[in-house]
Amino acid sequence: MAAGERAEVRYFDYAATAPLCEEALAALREHLVAGVPGLDLNANANSLHTPGRRAFSRMESARRATARALGARRPDEIVFTGSATESDNAALVGIARGAVEARRKAGRPVAKPRIVTSVIEHEAVLKPARFLAEQGFDVAFLQPDRAGFVSAERLAEAVDGSTVLVSVMAANSETGAVQPVAELAEVAHAAGALFHTDAVQALGKVPVDLQALGVDAASFSGHKIGAPKGVGALYLKARTPFTPYLMGGGQELGRRSSTQNVAGMDAFAAAAAAAVEMQPAERARLSKIRDGLYGRLAAHPHIRATVAAAGSEDYLPNIVHVLVEGMESETLILRMDRLGFCVSGGSACSSSSLESSHVLRAMGVADRDARGALRISMGRYTTQAEADSLAEALFSCIG
Ligand code: PLP
Repeated sequence: MAAGERAEVRYFDYAATAPLCEEALAALREHLVAGVPGLDLNANANSLHTPGRRAFSRMESARRATARALGARRPDEIVFTGSATESDNAALVGIARGAVEARRKAGRPVAKPRIVTSVIEHEAVLKPARFLAEQGFDVAFLQPDRAGFVSAERLAEAVDGSTVLVSVMAANSETGAVQPVAELAEVAHAAGALFHTDAVQALGKVPVDLQALGVDAASFSGHKIGAPKGVGALYLKARTPFTPYLMGGGQELGRRSSTQNVAGMDAFAAAAAAAVEMQPAERARLSKIRDGLYGRLAAHPHIRATVAAAGSEDYLPNIVHVLVEGMESETLILRMDRLGFCVSGGSACSSSSLESSHVLRAMGVADRDARGALRISMGRYTTQAEADSLAEALFSCIG
């Protein structure tokens, strides 16, 4: 493609990754200067010399901005990581181990510590949960209802005095179901457990105020909000027990060793601030496009909405999830791609696996129907005109 030429791509896969936003690009540009050692912002933020202190100061201002955007009480509650997968892994393993240790030190050891999560989590939570089960934890996986929600009542039945950690995502990456996190956190706390939420898909789409939600830990991903890949964040409320599993130089106050990616942090902070500021207007704008799309698509005899998200605030405003009768997701994705549309199938952004989605299965969707699952996800640069053309394109792919 020649320089300056715009590809004819209509992008509807924001839940997999979002395009870089202007604010993150502007932040990155300040860092990405080659060949001027000492004058750029690329020094090691732990070095004592002037460029090191300059990098440190940028890193801390990114941390303050991120804490502000997310509603954390203190900047040092933000640990920058390499991705949300890392944040989720660190939260589950680090908090579970930290909590067990804290109870042991307090003279209240737990014989078989319990962890409660849900079956609709991303693999970045499910796999460390299964790992902890192999390490001797008693791990319970809650089922969602048919609409994709994990209820506080079910959680209340699953927690007990030996529960050290509960982890339930803020919004599901396939159906967009926004989970009742504040209520779930209350139930966890009443049982004496800590609460973590994977807020990757929620940030910038629905309000995410960490103090209002009352969670102890939360995971975020840069590339889902317009920052580059390779940077994430983990909110760890002050005094939350945490045993780090990355051991090394003790950066991030000992919680995540590795020389810090200051450029990534700066871009993350810029993208998060923009996403949070734009969230109310974007929610209203995208909800309208979403509802229109659901209406148009469901008028087709072979398409049905997977969930009753149209007109509902209980689902993310940017996700349309449908089941196309008699078609395979992969066929549809490739046909849509030929027409210049990027969409995705039932299984989330995690892999190119052709297996039917674990989320849909848990919601009771028959395998036969789940095979034709299509996720259409939107964001900041999606227009109404693009959504209109998507509906036409999809109809032509179904025939
Ligand atoms: N959690 C959720 C809900 C996701 O949708 C994703 C997406 O891949 C992740 C975690 C993993 O994020 P990352 O790609 O930053 O590791």
